[in-house]
Amino acid sequence: IIQLYVPLNWFGTYYRAIQKNFVDMENMFDLMREEQEVIDAPGAGAIAMKRGGVEFRNVSFSYLPERVILKNITFTVPSGKTVALVGPSGSGKSTIIRLLFRFYDVDTGVIVIDDQNIKTVTQESLRRAIGVVPQDTVLFNNSIKYNINYGRIGAGEADIIQAARGADIHERILTFPDGYDTEVGERGLRLSGGEKQRVAIARTLLKAPIIVLLDEATSALDTQTERNIQGALNEVCANRTTIIVAHRLSTIIHADEILVLKEGEIVERGTHMNLVGQEGVYASMWKQQLENKDSTSVENSMEQSM
Ligand code: ATP
Repeated sequence: IIQLYVPLNWFGTYYRAIQKNFVDMENMFDLMREEQEVIDAPGAGAIAMKRGGVEFRNVSFSYLPERVILKNITFTVPSGKTVALVGPSGSGKSTIIRLLFRFYDVDTGVIVIDDQNIKTVTQESLRRAIGVVPQDTVLFNNSIKYNINYGRIGAGEADIIQAARGADIHERILTFPDGYDTEVGERGLRLSGGEKQRVAIARTLLKAPIIVLLDEATSALDTQTERNIQGALNEVCANRTTIIVAHRLSTIIHADEILVLKEGEIVERGTHMNLVGQEGVYASMWKQQLENKDSTSVENSMEQSM
């Protein structure tokens, strides 16, 4: 196994905390409202969302000047379609997501949504148009109802229940001691990883954004949970422009395009069928995953096949 990723231990706890929190970007934005890297252009207006087409044109980016993280990334996600990002740990998948959410500005190139450079619109309107289903959802110490409602403050009870049903968590909530009023989070009922992800899906269904960013959980879930989650994910992605950071290739077989990233570059692209037909990185990752089903993460199989 080639070691492709050296943890940046020297960045210390602060770095890790930020990295972890970035996973739950929407929450982080509201909870911390800390020092902003990016400020709105003077006179910026709200983004005019039409069909939610996303485009990266020759995007390059570095966090620190001496190290380029993304190199000349170009791809299009047509309205309603799904693009999946795969690649080893550290290849830049989450960075693409963070740039689209505009946590940072690109160094060169542009990111365009519905023909508008995202640099020219307000961040608030941009983030309102994009739903995020993070890998690890941070729950508020509040009721389960509040936690779902957060997706669209002001939504009525019927909409909350409908979202919970769509996310396949309604029945589960009814088994909680106080149903929708049950306190959850660190100081309340602790939810499992799969349940938390379904809360995030319910939130996103309630928010009903045109664009959905999905960070697939790396942690192994049991087969039944996996199946439930998959159903809920299909529901949240249906008819929305979707970008998935994928850790299991089985979940992206139907993606309209798969981008294989390595060291910040797109090294292969195509549909699952195209890519398994080539003798490239993706094909060997796929073979690896079929061979060792127990080590299901893409990162593992990529590290073994590169
Ligand atoms: P993973 O699958 O592990 O989540 P990834 O492909 O999503 O990995 P990114 O999180 O996009 O990778 O990180 C790409 C590179 O950028 C990594 O080398 C990482 O160490 C570096 N990096 C990420 N965030 C920062 C930051 N805030 N400051 C400096 N470097 C960073």
